[in-house]
Amino acid sequence: MSASLPFFRYHPDPLASGSIFAAAETCACCKRNRGWIYTATFYTAHEVNGRFCPWCIADGSAAERFAGEVADSYGLDGVSEDVLHEVTRRTPGFHAWQDPHWLVHGQDAAAFVGEVGYTELAAHPESLDQLQTDIRLDGWYDENQLEHFLAHLGDGATAMLFRCTVCGTHLAYADAS
Ligand SMILES: [Zn+2]
Ligand SMILES: [Zn+2]
Repeated sequence: MSASLPFFRYHPDPLASGSIFAAAETCACCKRNRGWIYTATFYTAHEVNGRFCPWCIADGSAAERFAGEVADSYGLDGVSEDVLHEVTRRTPGFHAWQDPHWLVHGQDAAAFVGEVGYTELAAHPESLDQLQTDIRLDGWYDENQLEHFLAHLGDGATAMLFRCTVCGTHLAYADAS
């Protein structure tokens, strides 16, 4: 059996979100086959021949070796440099239609839960309220249209759900193809 996966504070279940798969594949960083491979975003100007194991994501060696970032820093406003580096260099990113980004609650990055539809959002009403408010702030004034959009999340457009690691509040942003 392979060792248990590293723990990622800001992406606690990367198997559920599909960012890490069980695969017999050689890591492009440590050159070992650890039984698991990371499949989502990595931004670098260097050429990378292959994908990374979760351990090279967790300890920052993939980001360091290829002078890259696992996740984009967009959206990470007001967090400490430590948190910024943990999310962008040592946390698995995720698959999304548009450039994925992280949400912040208080002064901390929130943990990525997964891609969800209306039902999951409705189970965390605060995330639905917050998403509604954000979309209104973006200038979407037609309430009927907004209601329709929210109710049909999961069918075309989806929502990216996060959970604050400090207070447990759920947050979300909408992602569309
Ligand atoms: Zn590795
Ligand atoms: Zn919070």
